[in-house]
Amino acid sequence: MNELTKSSSDTYFLGHPKGLVTLFLTEMWERMSYYGMRGLLVLFMTREVVEGGLNLDTGTAMAIYGVYGASVYFLCVPGGWVADKIFGAQRTVLIGAIIITIGHYILALPFEKTFFLGLVFVSIGTGLLKPNISTIVGQLYKPGDIRVDAGYTIFYMSINIGSMLGFLVCGYLGEKVGWHWGFGAAGVGMTFGVIQYIFSKASLGEAGLQPTLDESEDSSRYLSIFSISSVLLSLIIISAFVGLWSIDPQILNQIIVYLILIVAIFYFVYLYLFAGLNKAEKGNISMLLLLFIGSVLFWAGFDQGGSSLNLFAKDYTDLFILGWEMPATFLQVANPLMVVIFAPFFAAFWINLGKRNLDLDTPQKFALGCFLMAIGFFVMIFGVEVALENEKAGVKWLLLTYLFHTLGELCLSPVGLSATAKYSPKRYKGQMMGIWFLSSSLAAGLAGLLASKSFESGISSMPGLFNQIILALVIVGIILIIANKFVKATTDLEE
Ligand code: GLN
Repeated sequence: MNELTKSSSDTYFLGHPKGLVTLFLTEMWERMSYYGMRGLLVLFMTREVVEGGLNLDTGTAMAIYGVYGASVYFLCVPGGWVADKIFGAQRTVLIGAIIITIGHYILALPFEKTFFLGLVFVSIGTGLLKPNISTIVGQLYKPGDIRVDAGYTIFYMSINIGSMLGFLVCGYLGEKVGWHWGFGAAGVGMTFGVIQYIFSKASLGEAGLQPTLDESEDSSRYLSIFSISSVLLSLIIISAFVGLWSIDPQILNQIIVYLILIVAIFYFVYLYLFAGLNKAEKGNISMLLLLFIGSVLFWAGFDQGGSSLNLFAKDYTDLFILGWEMPATFLQVANPLMVVIFAPFFAAFWINLGKRNLDLDTPQKFALGCFLMAIGFFVMIFGVEVALENEKAGVKWLLLTYLFHTLGELCLSPVGLSATAKYSPKRYKGQMMGIWFLSSSLAAGLAGLLASKSFESGISSMPGLFNQIILALVIVGIILIIANKFVKATTDLEE
């Protein structure tokens, strides 16, 4: 019996392979780090120096947030490649985790320069870890093992438990004790993550142990490409840190959005025209393109949670409960908490619809996600009006907004991942997972641009912008529903 088969029949953890515990805990600490940062980043950058912040103007802070989010998810594309071609997913996850940990300890230092260096480390490390840990989950099971979807659902829980920890622990320490304590706390979490990963890695067996090279491919050639790129990237970063060049974050944010857009367009054009795909496979690519568009718009709205809505929470929301002012980041806990609460109901709901032959197609679920996101922004417009009249709004507005955003996420995010796996042409499975993350990357960049706009003339800019976001979400939702009819007919999931 080889390792893969052995782990496949393993029911150690809630009926799932033991390796899932290792991945669950590692992803939990990694997401604590990512969401802890997401919660604190904009607040820290916009606070005055006397409050320990960087005193950046709102537009610049939002742009840096956009560049950070876009980089994290963009780096998942080369991160997947490094695992496939050179180190294998298991080792790449470990390297990524160590780099994130170092990044957080750098962030714990109370200097402005080291702050940005820490962000670079965290982005690179997350790019190496996130896509590969997601792939290993699937590889814990034999092909055709029906537990794989449930495995991903458990994994999605670890994401959200981690993000709750991030918002609560890093948020509390960062806002109440000192910003760098918050950043450093994620480093302590990641240290636990790295130690447990090293000691329990054996339970992953063969899953993601080796690179997935063809016979004809030569790993040492890839290692040279990787080494040269790493040296170049380091030179670019170091030269910026010693002051050889600098760029306005808002311009960088725009450039990054255009670059990612160009990469995405090229990739889809390549797949249609030059990848030698048959008609049905091209139909499947059209389906993925449709989901890509829906995903970009959805996450661009969702990511306002860490930027414009987060700042709204800090400065324009009454955060006092029983005389105690809670940290603004605590409000962001609403999203992961509601994901954990509602996810099982959603799973049951889809199954129920299926039983009645009312199954929704994936683009229809995405459309629903976009509509729910739009409702969330609609609610928020009222919250902003209240704050404009009374200086501060109650927490209910943000909580209600996050409720709709979370319901939208549950329509879109879990199904997006499995649809990507399903519709990808066999030879391009790994890289297509990269496309899924590329949509999050483009969205994060776009979110930075939108968030800058939302504060152009204080919060009075918000209602106008939110109306535009609502319009875009509704239009894309309708396009998804209409296009689905045509695209669906051209897809073919037969092996
Ligand atoms: N909440 C999910 C995660 O953190 C998805 C986020 C995204 O794709 N933008 O993994």
